[in-house]
Amino acid sequence: MTPLEAKKFREICNNLKKLPAFSKVIIRRKKITDHGHVYEKDGMYYINISNTASFSEALYHLAHECAHVLSDMNDTHGPVFALFEECMRNIISFLNGY
Ligand SMILES: [Zn+2]
Repeated sequence: MTPLEAKKFREICNNLKKLPAFSKVIIRRKKITDHGHVYEKDGMYYINISNTASFSEALYHLAHECAHVLSDMNDTHGPVFALFEECMRNIISFLNGY
C-alpha cells in the first residue's frame, strides 16, 4: 500500500466510524499472521487488518470483518453473514469513491 493509499484507507475507516453501527469499532493496520480479524473487548470491537495487504485487499478484508461486527462474531459465515458482507462491500466501495 502506498502512503497515499494508506491515507485513503484511514479516511474510509474514519467515515465508517461515523456510522452508528461502527462507532464502537477501532480499525488498525498491524503486522498479523492472518489477513484480518476482529474481537470484542469491553464493549469495543477491534478490527485488525494485515499491514502487508494491498489497498484493495485491505478493503476486502475490512468489509469481511465489519460484517462480523454486524451479524456474527462466531465465524460461522452463514447466509445472513454473506448478505451483510455484500452490503459492506457496497458501502466501502461507496466510501472509496468520495
Ligand atoms: Zn470471517
